[in-house]
Amino acid sequence: MIPLFKNYPGLKARLPHVPLGNFPTPVQKLERLGEKIGAGQLYIKRDDLSGEIYGGNKVRKLEFLLGQAREKRAAEVLTFGFAGSNHALASAIYAKETGLRSISMLLPQPNAGYVRRNLLMGFQTGAELHYHRNYFAVIRGTLLVLAKHRFRSGRFPMVIAPGGSSTRGIIGFVNAAFELREQVKAGQLPEPDRIYVALGTMGTAAGLILGLQVAGLKSRVIPVRVVDRKYADAGNLARLLRRVNAFLSGLDHSFPRVEYPETDAGIRHDYFGDDYALFTPAGMEAVALMEEREGIRLEGTYTGKALACLIEETGRNRGRDQVILFWNTYNSRDFTPLIRGADYHRLPRGFHRYFEDEVQPLDPGYKKGI
Ligand SMILES: *Cc1c(COP(=O)(O)O)cnc(C)c1O
Repeated sequence: MIPLFKNYPGLKARLPHVPLGNFPTPVQKLERLGEKIGAGQLYIKRDDLSGEIYGGNKVRKLEFLLGQAREKRAAEVLTFGFAGSNHALASAIYAKETGLRSISMLLPQPNAGYVRRNLLMGFQTGAELHYHRNYFAVIRGTLLVLAKHRFRSGRFPMVIAPGGSSTRGIIGFVNAAFELREQVKAGQLPEPDRIYVALGTMGTAAGLILGLQVAGLKSRVIPVRVVDRKYADAGNLARLLRRVNAFLSGLDHSFPRVEYPETDAGIRHDYFGDDYALFTPAGMEAVALMEEREGIRLEGTYTGKALACLIEETGRNRGRDQVILFWNTYNSRDFTPLIRGADYHRLPRGFHRYFEDEVQPLDPGYKKGI
């Protein structure tokens, strides 16, 4: 049974959940990276291994989101993201595992090798991919596609919020906090003082903050913003958290209501750089350091920027003597064998430029033609 249900059995009957991943994900001490950056007690939470085919933080959310889809008897799910969206890909893969079809409404972003790989993998999985030039086109396109699918099958696809950060999705990370507590109790790591995590649609951070507080851990989450400020700020983070809290307390009255003043968020804004998915020198240095020291592969959009913050703050002696946990939200399963030979020409036209244009200069594949 998942840790959240063990602690709140009242939730089990009321909250549909489909097991999709391998949990608990391992925790591991990063001796070599810790030594390099001067952190004596540096750990990593390996959510990169959360799924057999595709890991990362979206698997935890999808266990509840696809549970909800089942409850609604949906045959299809529809979600949103940028072209290289890990969330859209994870939704496609795990929807298929659950016997559902999936539709992704995708927006432009800076080019990178992972954008190509994710697009091809989504296509190979059988997802219906749509390219949209801007938000207006996404809204228009979504209404059209919903109507078309309703007409064809008699039912609307279930809409999944961007990043999976709706109430149901976020519960995946409330559960993750209880999972971490079990690992602390079992002596796999000391209770962390600080947990660094990338802040995108904020579901990961919101769920963790709520879960840690309810689980009685003192760990402080340090959310590192990697999207534009209009999507991620302390006010919206607090609202998300309170909404999930109210929902869970409503389902099971023994689930406590916590106080969460928005002044507590402590969001780090200095690692974003110039744009979403535009890599930064500090972020890519962090990616290279993790690979070289620990053999764990991160990326430049989310985890590199979050790790850059951890490294920089440790260098400034913030938390150096504390127990620091880096929450790895990126997938590390290699799916290249599954997309070998896939032809991008079969994707909708709007996506072709990601294969024909050069990737951004800080991408490891720049000028290498891969
Ligand atoms: C989606 C994603 C995040 C951000 O998580 P949110 O819950 O959207 O804040 C972080 N890292 C990776 C690799 C992701 O794909």
